[in-house]
Amino acid sequence: MNKIPNKGQDQHQILANLKAFKGQDLPWQAGKIFAYIYQTSPAAKAVAEAAYLSFLPENGLDPTAFPSLLQLEQQVIGQLTPLLGGDEEVKGNCTSGGTESVILAVKAARDYARAKYPEQKEFEILVPSTAHPCFYKAAHYLDIDIKSIAVDPQTQRLNVADMRAAINEKTILLVGSAPSYAHGVMDPIAELSDLAIEKDLLLHVDACVGGMYLPFLRQLGHEVPPFGFELPGVTSISCDLHKFGYVPKGCSTILYRSKELRQHQIFSCSQWPGYTVVNPTVLSSKTGAPMAAAWAMFQYMGLEGYQNAVADCQAARDAVIEALEQLPSLELIGQPDMSLLAFASKDEDLSIFDLADQLNEKGWYVQVQLASPHSPAAIHLSISHFNCPHIPNFVTDLQVTVAELMSTPVKENELLAALDHSMLALLMEDFDPAMLGQFQELMGLESAEGGLPADMGAVNQLLNVLSAKQREDVLLAFMNELI
Ligand SMILES: *Cc1c(COP(=O)(O)O)cnc(C)c1O
Repeated sequence: MNKIPNKGQDQHQILANLKAFKGQDLPWQAGKIFAYIYQTSPAAKAVAEAAYLSFLPENGLDPTAFPSLLQLEQQVIGQLTPLLGGDEEVKGNCTSGGTESVILAVKAARDYARAKYPEQKEFEILVPSTAHPCFYKAAHYLDIDIKSIAVDPQTQRLNVADMRAAINEKTILLVGSAPSYAHGVMDPIAELSDLAIEKDLLLHVDACVGGMYLPFLRQLGHEVPPFGFELPGVTSISCDLHKFGYVPKGCSTILYRSKELRQHQIFSCSQWPGYTVVNPTVLSSKTGAPMAAAWAMFQYMGLEGYQNAVADCQAARDAVIEALEQLPSLELIGQPDMSLLAFASKDEDLSIFDLADQLNEKGWYVQVQLASPHSPAAIHLSISHFNCPHIPNFVTDLQVTVAELMSTPVKENELLAALDHSMLALLMEDFDPAMLGQFQELMGLESAEGGLPADMGAVNQLLNVLSAKQREDVLLAFMNELI
């Protein structure tokens, strides 16, 4: 059944079938999804998609063959640079996403260190405990060490003194987020900049989610602490355009203070008989579509368009925060610096996972965050422009759902409740992928069609009591089954 047909089929049928695949997806078009999808107006979407399609076949593999792409990339980076406090010394590239941008920044830092300190054999980066997992991925792929520095559990901000204390002879790069994805909280980048200069270290600012928001918030007159190249210790910045830049996915940027630094990002190879390879980014053959879409969005939105979008998102965020302040069983985590926020349950009669499930049943999509040593279990919201008109309804549903849950006893997973947590941890110590099935059975988790568990609340309760390493093992085994 699942094979390429002998004879090609009718295009209308094919496209209809493709559309049918989306039947089980989150219905994001309604604007009630607070993660994964970043949209502004339908008109902007149309412009971005037309621009995207218009450069789909062009190949960024070789900028001498397609100088148009070189120009688009230079102009996108050039137009972004002043927003991030940079001058004409700044060099950068468009990448496929925040993860690629960060991998490249870490690679550049490693190879800079190799060039500068040829005798150094071990390399370590220091990140706040709220840093995005892509830093762990970068360390994993590049075979270097990474150390997580606990943030203040109250503010979710890095304490720079703690990072200072962790610096050692292996350290090559400090990292701060502007802001963190999980809680929308900015690390003290100015203090990190001073530290980086004092210790002669590189400093990467992860502005993947904030880079196309905070500068406009500042232009609107809000107090936004400095986080860009205006701080002399900041040596590289990642900034996604496929989040608050409202460019279709596959578009981020990585910027360096100077070309001396950026050169360590570039890979060139002449060890085969084919075309010579010189790639600034991870991808080799790559479509010009995201760069064209980014360029088009910058021109279409203008500074004013982005400012208006940010003003609406900030008002939406304020409305959610105000609602949270009036719900004694919920607690905003830290003081979010933009329209990303997270809230936890303060009341043991209210399971944050059940609240997420119930909100999602009502047609919303909120993201669950498991508890970690320095951050409580939480519901996360990323509010982008197309969410804004739905915020009053969301606030109402939040209030109603909390009241409903508070008047019904917590739906404990019986087995989980019966199992002592330490016993469960013991069980998990020797996790074997073959245990995955038993585990699902144990939890009474019926696998829905497509292999996804039906009761996410129970899954989250279970994952929540496991250690990070155990979670990683379970999820890896799960993914290996899924695809
Ligand atoms: C989204 C995000 C990333 C990773 O970006 P991807 O585009 O998903 O690879 C990294 N850091 C932060 C702060 C982010 O919000």
